Amino acid sequence: MMAYGACARRRPGTGSTGPGAPPGPRSWDRAREALASALRGPGGGVKAPGSRSQGDPVRWRGPGSRWGRARGENGRVKEIIAIVNPVAGRGRAGRAWPAFEAALRSQGYGVDVWYTAGPGDAREMGRRARERGCSLLLVTGGDGTVHETLNGTGPGGPPLAIVPLGTGNDLARGLQVTATPAGIVDLVRRGRVRRLDLGYLETPEGGRYFVNVSGAGFDAEVARRVYEAGGPGRGALPYVLSMLRTLRAYRNVPLEVKVDGQVHRQTSLMVVVGNSAYYGGGMHILPGATPDDGAFDLCLIGDLGKLETLVVFPRVFRGTHVHHRLVRCLRGEQVEISSPEPVAVHADGEPVGHLPVRYRNFAGGMPVLVPALGARQAAAAAGPKAEEPAGG
Ligand SMILES: [Mg+2]
Repeated sequence: MMAYGACARRRPGTGSTGPGAPPGPRSWDRAREALASALRGPGGGVKAPGSRSQGDPVRWRGPGSRWGRARGENGRVKEIIAIVNPVAGRGRAGRAWPAFEAALRSQGYGVDVWYTAGPGDAREMGRRARERGCSLLLVTGGDGTVHETLNGTGPGGPPLAIVPLGTGNDLARGLQVTATPAGIVDLVRRGRVRRLDLGYLETPEGGRYFVNVSGAGFDAEVARRVYEAGGPGRGALPYVLSMLRTLRAYRNVPLEVKVDGQVHRQTSLMVVVGNSAYYGGGMHILPGATPDDGAFDLCLIGDLGKLETLVVFPRVFRGTHVHHRLVRCLRGEQVEISSPEPVAVHADGEPVGHLPVRYRNFAGGMPVLVPALGARQAAAAAGPKAEEPAGG
């Protein structure tokens, strides 16, 4: 059995699940209830993991909502904290950030800028930003920086705006956020909050939130090599090279994948679990994934031979690998994966431990600012009666 209790720590007196205090198995139900009540904002709350969406729309921008209050009466954001990872994108984030800051300031926005100096800083800054109750958290960097920040804020933190200046910008890719100063000013001024699901996993080594994709088996082994070669968020090429090296020695493993109580057992190359369609710098691994449906999408890749793996792999960039006879797509809210063998697990491309792993989805736990709908999109979304433009 999994040593969930080993990582069951909770910050005393908070009653909520901070990033340093993932819930254990016995406290899971209590933590779920506490989370649901602690995170239930005036405009609607984060659904507890496992609770099925009832289709009730949660309006964060309405009067009294966190985002509504943050914007103030004139539609202006009151307090922006910017976490900037200057080394993201091989230094691109650090070089480009001053132009973004100048653009925001020229429009009258006050920005408190926090530069990260090393691994773990963004996580600590995310925690502090949440404690301070800032109205908008701007994260400048790649998916690695967003991953760290989210592990600091936990589910239901301040709305996040992503300035995608890393080398792996898979989350921003799916949200159609553009990395230009004018684009970010427009995002802050007119963007709307989309409440994405935040994944959480527990291995015997500990718990972790993840924003895109987690997985066990071959890709976790690849991620481990990429990470050891220089860290996550370095685009697709290091993944491809590492994949070829890993493949030479890799042996498929027996996996037991339990999705909402249904058990799938098979010898597999790997299994991927996520909310986002992309990972690894543009690989379209979960083409059917919806980031705010409260459920995980899974891609279970069966007993592929080495040659077959090489044939199927390029299809991942287009998302057509799902049509292969040994690839199964699943969807569910409660996911557990185990194996009699030691199998590596990654979260957003970072090695996080080994099987067994247990996943929970914090539905709506990640409020993210996305571009306002264009006039045509808005009309299409609203049907015959078009909506008012966002933000005022
Ligand atoms: Mg989903």
